[in-house]
Amino acid sequence: MNVLEKANILSKAGKYDSCGPEMCEVNVNQGLCGIYHAKAEHETCRIFKTLMDNNCSFDCKYCSNSNSCTKKKAKYEPKELVTLFNYLHTKLDVNGLFISSAVSGAPDKITDKMIDVVKTLRVKHRFKGYIHFKVLPGTSYDKVKEAAEYSSRMSINIESPTKSVLSELSSCKDYKNDLLKRQTWIAKLKGNQATQMIINEMSTDKDVIKRTDWGYSNLKLKRVYYSAFRPVKGTPLENAKAESLSRQNRLYNVDFLMRCYKFKVKEFNAIMDEGMLPKQDPKMALAMQNLDSHVDINEASYEELIRIPGIGPRTAVKIIHKKEKITRYEQLHKLGGWVKRAKPFIEVGGKRQKMLCEF
Ligand code: SF4
Repeated sequence: MNVLEKANILSKAGKYDSCGPEMCEVNVNQGLCGIYHAKAEHETCRIFKTLMDNNCSFDCKYCSNSNSCTKKKAKYEPKELVTLFNYLHTKLDVNGLFISSAVSGAPDKITDKMIDVVKTLRVKHRFKGYIHFKVLPGTSYDKVKEAAEYSSRMSINIESPTKSVLSELSSCKDYKNDLLKRQTWIAKLKGNQATQMIINEMSTDKDVIKRTDWGYSNLKLKRVYYSAFRPVKGTPLENAKAESLSRQNRLYNVDFLMRCYKFKVKEFNAIMDEGMLPKQDPKMALAMQNLDSHVDINEASYEELIRIPGIGPRTAVKIIHKKEKITRYEQLHKLGGWVKRAKPFIEVGGKRQKMLCEF
């Protein structure tokens, strides 16, 4: 099998690892897949995302690389991947590598090969771009430490918010020892880490949000990615129900509100029904539940302002530091507010619309 054939198999097999909710694949029209526009350390660049090997010894029931799947298998030798990446870097303006792998045999053995690739790129070829290194469950501390030296960001996929859900999905991974323990190592060694969870009917939004908050607070995670479950043909879960993208998007909304607006988990718990968020925009749902009288936009604090739909942190700061009173909706619009969304919750120049709950 030549390198391009391997690239096709291993890049396709790597598509389930998220490198951002807005990522999009670049069609380079050269028979290659796996190149994405993705955000890497605040900049958008072309990233090549691939597995080192797709022949897994593990049995995760959702995964097309698992030991029960008969998909075509392939693996790179480190030299092959280095040569291919250098070609993509110089000819196709690819400036980032996202390297992951199935656990083919002992986790340290395959991790050694991945380290060989990133070390060669950094040391021999002086590659200065972005490298995202996926840590495999069961990898030893020394290997995680070595990989951290050459990576920009690291991650290990925890897959589920709780130990019990993970045990339904895989009999090989131990939630605490294989996953959470390695997350704490990465937090100490690198700091810059992400993780990914599959969203399915086995877990509630409450479980997912609680685990996310724990990661942001205790492991200083940079990002948590959510993947709505999609059944993959040939896996034991091929007939299971797909999860809706709208649920995935609501969780991204909540995540954003926690990271950038500093909303607290207990605020979301208060609007849940049996552990699930209402099927609407979470900020709007919170406002409809909590704002029972119109907010005077000229008197409100920053914390009050950012809880109004249509007003984000930047607009809230501008409103606080405004030179003149806001008496017209156009002034709010000029400061960046989304007037249509905010209108039912605010009072401007003595004007107020009916609250949404009054309709
Ligand atoms: S560890 Fe599980 S999820 Fe990862 S490649 Fe192997 S079977 Fe797939």
